[in-house]
Amino acid sequence: MIRARGIKIGDTVLVRRAGDVIPFVAGVLDASRRTGAERDIVPPTTCPSCQQPLSEQGNSRELFCVNVACPAQTVRRLIHWASRAAADIDAIGGVWIERLADAGILEHPSDFYHLTKERLLEFDRMGEVSATRMIESIDTSRQVGLRRALIGLAIPMASEGTAARLCRAGFGSVEEIADAGEVGLVAVDDIGPKVAASLIEHLNRLRPELQRLREAGVSLDVREEDLPPVVAAGAPLAGKTVVVTGAISDPRSGEKVPRPAFQRLCGKAGATIASSVSASTDLLITGADVGASKVTKAEKLGVEVVDQSEIWSQLFTAGITL
Ligand SMILES: [Zn+2]
Repeated sequence: MIRARGIKIGDTVLVRRAGDVIPFVAGVLDASRRTGAERDIVPPTTCPSCQQPLSEQGNSRELFCVNVACPAQTVRRLIHWASRAAADIDAIGGVWIERLADAGILEHPSDFYHLTKERLLEFDRMGEVSATRMIESIDTSRQVGLRRALIGLAIPMASEGTAARLCRAGFGSVEEIADAGEVGLVAVDDIGPKVAASLIEHLNRLRPELQRLREAGVSLDVREEDLPPVVAAGAPLAGKTVVVTGAISDPRSGEKVPRPAFQRLCGKAGATIASSVSASTDLLITGADVGASKVTKAEKLGVEVVDQSEIWSQLFTAGITL
């Protein structure tokens, strides 16, 4: 975009509102008002982290570092493995992952599963409570399962949707996907030859890592939550597209319920889950501490807004529980 619009450092640009949120840089506001002090924006030729040459890919000629041993990418991959959509190791944040990687004790996702509390306590500013929480969080993440492990492995071109479709197509483990071959993979809805080739290339490259994860007791097999929910008879939310917002808690115990778990209950009740409110949303389910913007948007679009207590009682009546 910088290239196409001839934008330089120091330019005054025209920014337009486009779509919903993201401002669109239309171009230089008035090129005749340039002072001559503007500087060209020169794209880098080497990776700032590993200094390897960059490769241009895609229609917009994006620059990629294709060095699989690139340190910056190693840290990002570890952070990605630990992220909520993947293994969800929520007690270890990005800063700690970086410190552990710098210390040389984290390189692959499987290395998380060999960390011990004693080893963590050797670090400055690491307390007993944090170390215990980190180890517990790592331990829980061993149940990651096929869909979230596929997301966590960050395979180029394979999206969260790809991971979900592979599970629904009947693959039972990540190794089965690695062994499926192109013919087996393109038979899955919406998986084309490029995505199939990327899955095959990267899962084969990752075979030693998959083996290490298995040996560390990490589940890479399909879980019930990876498959479409079985819709209960008399499902109260059948045919409805719903968005869940705010903090959700079980009214019987008062305990906090993770949003994905609640969404799954809504799925069992027949709902289709969406992430943001749009004209096709039927219901906005609100928990505690809801931001005003989602509710305002729902009201503007005429979407019904319902408190979680109403939905919980419908779920209990239909016998749908955690
Ligand atoms: Zn690099």
